[in-house]
Amino acid sequence: MAEKLTKQISQLDLSSPLPTNAHVKGAGYSASAQTTLKHTKPRKPQTGADSPLQTRPASPYTLRAPVDSDGLSWPSIGARERIEEDEEAKQGREKRISDAVKVILEELGEDTNREGLLETPERYARAMLYFTKGYEDNIRDVIKRAVFEEDHDEMVIVRDIEIYSLCEHHLVPFFGKVHIGYIPNKKVLGLSKLARLAEMYARRLQVQERLTKQIAMALTDILKPQGVAVVIEATHMCMVSRGVQKSGSSTVTSCMLGYFRESQKTREEFLGLVGKR
Ligand SMILES: [Zn+2]
Repeated sequence: MAEKLTKQISQLDLSSPLPTNAHVKGAGYSASAQTTLKHTKPRKPQTGADSPLQTRPASPYTLRAPVDSDGLSWPSIGARERIEEDEEAKQGREKRISDAVKVILEELGEDTNREGLLETPERYARAMLYFTKGYEDNIRDVIKRAVFEEDHDEMVIVRDIEIYSLCEHHLVPFFGKVHIGYIPNKKVLGLSKLARLAEMYARRLQVQERLTKQIAMALTDILKPQGVAVVIEATHMCMVSRGVQKSGSSTVTSCMLGYFRESQKTREEFLGLVGKR
């Protein structure tokens, strides 16, 4: 299935010019990209690249291929229903969520008829649907026409991509920055798409470790590069705002695949360039 998508991606129009890779700025994120000349020539491309799992221990999430046959990528159980529903069904969904939120407010001892809370259930319903809109993203739309043939085999890094996600254990936000690096193998991805990829997985119920891994695995599947490195540093509201008040603490996770995993020098170069060393 993943092969089928790759095939379709490789058949996309490759004639558009590569975006300038000096600096990328867009709504919701700011990223700088850089390449380095000091990178040691890789010994070999990642082999058996059908699944990056061959270099990773198995986990329930990564056992499945990054991209389904229909372009969804690790969708939630109700993702297809959300994508396919008409306007009426959408409103019904919003209404059911609002009703549930109203119950929560009442159970908190609040007066749901006071002015400030009158439309809060509806607002919250819409906000939650927005925070989880990544389930509706189709990776083909995300990547659309942005895989380019390019004879570039040096490290490409986009760092400081802002992400806002929801911790699935507490349904409260965690947010921070993602740094993505890869070493191409004849194919590069439009730089802004790396941020789109991060956004797609961040706008779901997540744990930071899985988010890190999903971005890395999807990129590996799309480009079959020689290596992928993803580092996320994030602040979790569930951690800093309750219990032991560890304000100011941040959580760093990383996922290194292919050459980044094999070569300590490459890995350290990446970590140095994203300021994590
Ligand atoms: Zn949490």
